[in-house]
Amino acid sequence: MEAVVSLNSGSSSIKFALFTLGPDGPQHAAVGKLEGIGTAPHLVARDANEVILVDRGWDNGAALTHEALLHDLFAWAGDHLPDHDIVAAGHRVVHGGTEFFRPLCVDDALLAALDALCPLAPLHQPHNLAAIRAIRTLAPELPQVACFDTGFHHELPEVSTRFGLPRALHDKGIRRYGFHGLSYEYIARALREADPVLASGRVIAAHLGNGASLCAMRDGLSMDTAMGFTALDGLLMGTRCGTIDPGAVLHLQTQEGMTAPAVEALLYKQSGLLGVSGISSDMRALHMSDDPHAAEAIELFAWRAAREASALILSLGGIDGIVFTAGIGENDSVIRSAICERLAWLGIAIDAQANTRNAPVISMADSEIIVRVIPTDEERMIAIHTLAALVPAGDAS
Ligand code: AMP
Repeated sequence: MEAVVSLNSGSSSIKFALFTLGPDGPQHAAVGKLEGIGTAPHLVARDANEVILVDRGWDNGAALTHEALLHDLFAWAGDHLPDHDIVAAGHRVVHGGTEFFRPLCVDDALLAALDALCPLAPLHQPHNLAAIRAIRTLAPELPQVACFDTGFHHELPEVSTRFGLPRALHDKGIRRYGFHGLSYEYIARALREADPVLASGRVIAAHLGNGASLCAMRDGLSMDTAMGFTALDGLLMGTRCGTIDPGAVLHLQTQEGMTAPAVEALLYKQSGLLGVSGISSDMRALHMSDDPHAAEAIELFAWRAAREASALILSLGGIDGIVFTAGIGENDSVIRSAICERLAWLGIAIDAQANTRNAPVISMADSEIIVRVIPTDEERMIAIHTLAALVPAGDAS
C-alpha cells in the first residue's frame, strides 16, 4: 500500500504522520511524536483508532541527533508497517521568503536557497531543513516536498505586507509574511465542509499553541495575520514575546549591553508565558499554579489575543465567526472564554457547557458571531500538498 509521510520537525521534537493513499485522499495510518530530542528522546505513535503502535524511549539518548532518531523511526516503520510503501516525504518549512510559496520538490538548489532563510526563522527553519537532509541520507531516492508555512499568506493585500520602513528594505524582503499557513489552510478547508456559509464570510482563525497567531480570512483566503516578518510577532506565545516596541530591542542592546544572540535567545526562548510567569511556557502548568505571576501571564495571553483580533476585524471590515485551533485553542475552555469575554462588544455569547466540552460550536444560538473549535491537522495538509507536488504539471487533470 502506497503511503506518504509528513514531518513537522522542531528543535526538540518531530511530529509525524503516515497517510495511505486512498480514493478519498490521504487516510491516517499512524500519527506520532518524537519528543525530548537532545535530552531524553521518547517516541509515541498511534494508529487511526488511537491504538498505541509504539511507546519507547532511548537509554542515554541525550546525544542522539535528529538524524539518528529519524533513522530509528524509519527502521521502526519498516519493521512494523511493512505493507506500507513510503513513496514521498513532505515537510513543514516555516519560511519561504518572497520566492517560495507553492509546495516544491526538494533539490540541492532549493535547499541552499532555504538555508539562506534560516536567520528569518532561527527557531524552526534549521530543524525543518535538518530533517530533509537526514532523509536524503537515509533514503536518497525518496522524493521530498517542502510545504511553506508562509504560503497561505502569499496573496495578502499589499497594505498588510508592509512595514513603515524605506521601500528599498521592503523590496529586499523585509516585510510581513505571516505563518501557521498550513494550519490555516487546513482550517479553511475543514470550515468549508462544516459550515460553508461561515467559510465564505469573515472569519478570524486563532491558532493558539506553543506558537500562536491569528489569521483574518475572507472566503477562505488570508487577508491579514498577526505574525509578520518572523514567527516572533503578534500574540504572546509559550516562550516568544510577540509584538514589542522595536525601541525596546534597541535599548536592550545599547543600554543593557546585550549582544544580538543574547537578545535573540531572550525574545525567542525566554519570553512569552515563560518569561512573564517565571514558571512555565506550558498553559496547563500555568492553570495549575496558584502563583499570581501565572495568573498575570494567562491574563496577558488572553488580552493580547483579543486585542490583535480586534485589529484584524478592521482588516475584514467586520466579523462573522471565530475558529479556535491548536493545543490551547482546541482544549482550553478558560482561555477561549477569556478571549471571547473581551470581545463581548461584538455580540459574542458563549455557551458555557459547549465550551467546557470543546464542542464544535461553542457560541449560543443567538450569538451574533459564531464561535467554533476545529482541531487542526497540519500533517494532513502537508500530505495533500506533497501528493499534488509529485504529479507532473501536465498530469494534474
Ligand atoms: P501545541 O503547540 O499546539 O502542541 O500546543 C501546546 C500548548 O497547548 C501548551 O501550552 C499546552 O499547555 C496547551 N495544551 C495542550 N493540551 C491542553 C489541554 N488539554 N488543556 C489546556 N491546554 C492544553
